[in-house]
Amino acid sequence: MEKLSNRRHRTSNIHIPIIMTDSTSISDINVLSDIVSRSPPNGISVLVVGSGIGGLTAARECLRVGCSVRAFERRPHSVLTGGSFTIGSSALRSLHNYPRLQREVKQLGCQPGLMVYKLDGSVISGPLQLTDVLSSSVDRDLASNTLRLSRPKLYCAMLEHLERMGVHVEYGREVVDYFENTPAGRAGVIFSDGSRHDADIVIAADGVNGHSWKLVLGREMRAQPSGDAIFRTDFPVRHAITNPIVAEKFIGNKQADGQPMVHIYMGDIQLLAGVYKDTVEWGLVHKDDGRAQESWDRHHLLERVFELVEKHPDLCEEAKALISTAPADSIVDWRIMWRDPQPQWTSASGQVVQLGDAAHTFHPSSGNGATQAMEDAVSLVTCLSIAGKDDLAWATRVHNLLR
Ligand SMILES: Cc1cc2nc3c(=O)[nH]c(=O)nc-3n(C[C@H](O)[C@H](O)[C@H](O)COP(=O)(O)OP(=O)(O)OC[C@H]3O[C@@H](n4cnc5c(N)ncnc54)[C@H](O)[C@@H]3O)c2cc1C
Repeated sequence: MEKLSNRRHRTSNIHIPIIMTDSTSISDINVLSDIVSRSPPNGISVLVVGSGIGGLTAARECLRVGCSVRAFERRPHSVLTGGSFTIGSSALRSLHNYPRLQREVKQLGCQPGLMVYKLDGSVISGPLQLTDVLSSSVDRDLASNTLRLSRPKLYCAMLEHLERMGVHVEYGREVVDYFENTPAGRAGVIFSDGSRHDADIVIAADGVNGHSWKLVLGREMRAQPSGDAIFRTDFPVRHAITNPIVAEKFIGNKQADGQPMVHIYMGDIQLLAGVYKDTVEWGLVHKDDGRAQESWDRHHLLERVFELVEKHPDLCEEAKALISTAPADSIVDWRIMWRDPQPQWTSASGQVVQLGDAAHTFHPSSGNGATQAMEDAVSLVTCLSIAGKDDLAWATRVHNLLR
């Protein structure tokens, strides 16, 4: 039975209820500890720029190994937009240090099966498990622990955990530049209001459009349009449940173990659709007509989606039905860009280090961005912790080399 937590994450105008769907009650979760053990202070000060999944993971890991941490986010409040993404077991494994968060994440996630169709709805393949589509036995083991998670819900769980451990993200702090003072072994950030902060290490986890490129690469990072864009949305299942086609094909269509099914329709356009617990999600890859943006902000774009669908009469009725249930103003049109992989993620002195999307971006179809951002954070902070305060610059370079 679903239990609605009385914990709600408050932003300026958004509440995200955290819904637990297995037999564990909120009081069971509350008795779990936030952290298995925390090292004594190691004298290392860290600034984290960006409170995405990468930045929050880095801040949490820094706390665990004894660093002092401040985290800055340019947005005025917590960023609760976005749909679902996949997080691999390599990243989820690091949560064993945080029993309560680990339990919450497990409960928030699901392990959908896959059905693959032509646009007309005829089956190409399925039902498949992730383990069926990965080749080696090692990959199968990893896939069996991979979770599909709502980004906003994961984000809330991670943010609340960090707050319980004493770090509060400082919102409305846009970093416009980075600097380093090599002789002093310090690095820092300059905010849009001209103020500055410095520390032993600055972690630039500010995503695809951050400003750390200038210091790290000595130039702006140029992005190339891929020619594709993706309409994405997710919304409460109550919007879709009254549509009988959607109710039968998508909401009621589960695997034998009750886990949901993801439906992928392949053709000139590609649709990915799923119903996870209380949320419907779909994404529609299409040719970029120049109007898409690299922004997760939602807009009134359903009319444009309908225009696209009309140009594809072969798209089956069930897929059209699901698309039509989205609230009109809930659509993101994400422009898919390529950025060449950069071998160097550290500044000349090694005191500023990029992490997650700031260091390397992934095509959305790879389902890998959040996993790699979390892995980066664990790898980086482990290196900082092993090196200690006297060898931090080497630590960031070794991390870069290992990754
Ligand atoms: C709002 C949002 C929604 C998303 N939704 C999805 C989704 O539905 N599906 C999916 O696959 N991926 C989504 N992503 C992308 C995915 O979360 C990332 O690719 C992945 O998790 C890597 O995370 P990251 O921490 O490196 O970067 P991001 O998640 O992009 O986080 C970067 C953070 O840095 C902040 N920031 C940027 N510039 C500055 C600055 N100058 N000063 C201070 N702060 C700054 C940003 O506001 C953001 O909070 C979303 C990202 C965001 C930000």
